[in-house]
Amino acid sequence: MSTDGKTRERLSSWKEIAVYLRVDLKTAQRWEARRGLPVRRVPGEGRRAVFAFQDELDQWLARGHANREEPARTTRRAWWMAGAASFTAGLGVWIWQRRPPPAGILELQGREIVARDSRGGEIWRHRLDFPPGPHGDDYPMERFLRPVDWRGNGHPDALFIHRQQRDVIGTTELICLDPRGQLRWRWRPALDLMDFNGEPFEHEWSIQDMVVTRVDGRETPWVSVTNNLRWSSGVCRITEDGRAELRFANFGYVLHLGVVGDGRDSMLAMSGINNAFNRPCLAMIGSSDPPSTAPAGGPARYRYTSAPAGSPRLYMLLPNSEFNLAKGKPYPIPKRMPVRSETVAVELYDPASLELLYTWEFDLGMQPLKVRASSETLALHRLYEREGALGHPIDACDELNRPHSVRLWTPAGGWSERAVSLATPMNTD
Ligand SMILES: [Zn+2]
Repeated sequence: MSTDGKTRERLSSWKEIAVYLRVDLKTAQRWEARRGLPVRRVPGEGRRAVFAFQDELDQWLARGHANREEPARTTRRAWWMAGAASFTAGLGVWIWQRRPPPAGILELQGREIVARDSRGGEIWRHRLDFPPGPHGDDYPMERFLRPVDWRGNGHPDALFIHRQQRDVIGTTELICLDPRGQLRWRWRPALDLMDFNGEPFEHEWSIQDMVVTRVDGRETPWVSVTNNLRWSSGVCRITEDGRAELRFANFGYVLHLGVVGDGRDSMLAMSGINNAFNRPCLAMIGSSDPPSTAPAGGPARYRYTSAPAGSPRLYMLLPNSEFNLAKGKPYPIPKRMPVRSETVAVELYDPASLELLYTWEFDLGMQPLKVRASSETLALHRLYEREGALGHPIDACDELNRPHSVRLWTPAGGWSERAVSLATPMNTD
């Protein structure tokens, strides 16, 4: 089996797959069942005969799936029931409206989305309609089930990102249900971008993350969309009638979105990969700004011939690490971007070992504050030394003993370097 004429590294059992991923067997199997880990089955040999290609596992890891929050059996989200209850309660409308709106729940049960009131009573139930995957399975992404109050009137729709495994890479779809649980629209992700040759990208897109901004109680969802086969990626604002407006184009996957601030002035923070520079990247755009594109640079093949003319408020390249380079991986992977009340953090992982390497911390204007080496870096350094992948001991390590440096870009100032102090397990501040 070969797609490019070269022999591909093949793993021929769950054990080999688990060892390659450096997780236990159960975790690998759970990742396949729930997160679309690209594991293949030998036809005719039942469910036990599995194999996987290393490059496909690498791609899957690079997309950050391993670090997604583990979905619970059901996802519980606040559901503003004031409106939804009144639609189904019939004669009960008047009674419901005279009571304070009860807290409620949206949850996913198998193929059904269920809305419940605060006492667990069912308000509506919507069966998702889609064909079974190649193994008869489906992989719903439960963390993206949430109410969206487009109109700010307390009658939210339910928005759900449905992901389905197909061949190697999953496909995704955004599904919008009205306050009665009826289908309003579905959106198959796509970005209106042309590559360097003026050719369209393959029509294979996935949704990576979703956040919601709010202005005067009216909510707007934003999604990051990545091409399954190439590096193209961007961020779209979704309109109430199910259209997507491209608001930011990046030269590499945008993996995580976060909202900083409130109302009209709220900003979108994003983290991902910039393939033109082979670095983890960060960007910030205003939620009301005109559409924009990452600053150009690097090989011409990583450009668009049709991309928004505007600029982001800020763009940043985080440094590479000797850990990923030691294992022949081009960049560390940003796997989480927690937005807190006063800081935004970006966690960089080693793609080979799946260990957390560095946590970067920024203020809410995305100015770098500090970087912290994780407690795993020391053990990992020793391991890579023993394997001969690193040619120096920790004492002589440049990376763990000096400030790190980011490349920061602003529309007014262009590129500049910024040294950021490093806290390590040997030297905590
Ligand atoms: Zn070192």
